[in-house]
Amino acid sequence: MSQANIYPMDNIAQLKTKLAELGIEFKENEPLAPYTTYKIGGPADIFSEIKNSQQLKAAVTLAIQLKVPYTIIGWGSNVLIADKGIRGLVIKNSAGNIAISEKENIEISQIETADVPEPRLDEIDKDKLYTFEDLDYDESDAPIVKVNIESGASLPVTIMNLIRNGITGLQWFGGIPGTIGGAIFNNIHGGTHYLAEYVDRVEVLDKDSLETRWLSNSECKFDYDYSIFHEENDLILSADFNLRKGDKEKAKQVYVEWTRRKKLQPQKSAGCVWQNISNEEKERLGLESTSWGYIIDRVLNLKGKQIGGAKISEAHAAFIENTGGAKAQDVVELMELIKKEAVAKLGIEPKSEVFLLGEF
Ligand SMILES: Cc1cc2nc3c(=O)[nH]c(=O)nc-3n(C[C@H](O)[C@H](O)[C@H](O)COP(=O)(O)OP(=O)(O)OC[C@H]3O[C@@H](n4cnc5c(N)ncnc54)[C@H](O)[C@@H]3O)c2cc1C
Repeated sequence: MSQANIYPMDNIAQLKTKLAELGIEFKENEPLAPYTTYKIGGPADIFSEIKNSQQLKAAVTLAIQLKVPYTIIGWGSNVLIADKGIRGLVIKNSAGNIAISEKENIEISQIETADVPEPRLDEIDKDKLYTFEDLDYDESDAPIVKVNIESGASLPVTIMNLIRNGITGLQWFGGIPGTIGGAIFNNIHGGTHYLAEYVDRVEVLDKDSLETRWLSNSECKFDYDYSIFHEENDLILSADFNLRKGDKEKAKQVYVEWTRRKKLQPQKSAGCVWQNISNEEKERLGLESTSWGYIIDRVLNLKGKQIGGAKISEAHAAFIENTGGAKAQDVVELMELIKKEAVAKLGIEPKSEVFLLGEF
C-alpha cells in the first residue's frame, strides 16, 4: 500500500520541532540501505538512531500523537526496504542496556564486536556446515539467572558479554545478526532452539494507551517465525529472560563454532527468505526435505538465478543475496518467480520470513 501523503506535512514539521526540543537527533531523507544487511532501500522522511530507551519511548509517543507513521528497525537483518523508502519516521533502535538480576548493569556500549573469528572455508568441515547435532546439549540443571535486556541490544554482542559474565542459554543463536527486539518479533531460531524458550516476559509501549505494559510469554503467542507483535504494532522495549549460570567455556565454544559455520551463508541478505514447509506437506509431496533451500535447488532448479543485482544464492538457495547494486524490485521479482514456479510444479506457495517495509 502506498504510504504517500497519509499524514499532513504540518505534523511532520511539528515532529521535527518536538524531537529537537527533546534533544533527539534526526536526519531528513536519509537513505536506509546502509542500515540493513541487504544494503538495499530508499530514504526515510525522518530518520533517527536512538540509543536510550527514554528517548525511544518519547519519539514513538510523539509520532503516534501526531499521527506520523513510524517504523522501528534494529539491525535491519530481516527486512527488505522498498526502493522508494519509508514514509514518516524511521527509528534505528540501539537502546541496548543489560541488567542481570541484582547485579550492576553490564556496560556493553564500549564493545563493538563479539570477538568471533572470521570463518575460513578451509578450516571448516564442509559436511558439518549446517549441522547442529554435535553442538547441542542440555543445561536445564544449571541455576536460573534473570536478565533484562533492552530491545536495541545487539544479539551477538549481548550473547558474548553474557557468556563472559558466566551467563549462558543464548549460545544457540550465534551467527544471527540482529537486535533483541527483532529477535523477539520473529521468535528467532538457532539449531533446534527458539528464543521463546528463554523469554519470561516482554515490556512494550502500547500504541493505543501509550502506557508501558508487560506481556507474559504466553501472551506473546510465540510460534515458528511468529509472535503477537506481527499483529500489534506495539514497540518492544525490553524483555526479561530466564538464562543459566552454566558452563561458560562450553557455551563459548558452541557459540563460536556455530557462528563460524553460519558465517558461510550470504551475509548481504536478509537471511533465509522462506519458512520451511511442514512435515505433512513434505510427506504428501514426496520431498526429501522441508527446506526451501532444497526445493529451490533440486525441484525448481533455480539456484544461481539472477535478476538485476539480486541472486538466488549458490551457497544456500533459500537465501537471495545482493551481489552489488541490487534494487528491492530485483529481490521482489526473484521472490515472485520462485512463488510462480513453486505453484506450477508443487501446488504450494512459499511464505516469506522477510518483512517488506515501505512503499512497494
Ligand atoms: C546472514 C543471516 C543469517 C540469519 N540467520 C538467522 C537464523 O539462523 N535464525 C533466524 O531466526 N533468523 C536469522 N536471520 C534473520 C535475522 O537476523 C533475525 O530475524 C534478526 O533477529 C532480526 O533482528 P533485527 O534487529 O535485524 O530486526 P529488523 O530486521 O531490523 O526488523 C525485523 C522486524 O522486526 C520489527 N522490529 C524490530 N525491532 C523491533 C522493536 N523493538 N519493536 C517492535 N518491532 C521491532 C521490525 O519493524 C521488522 O518488522 C538471519 C539473517 C541474516 C542476514
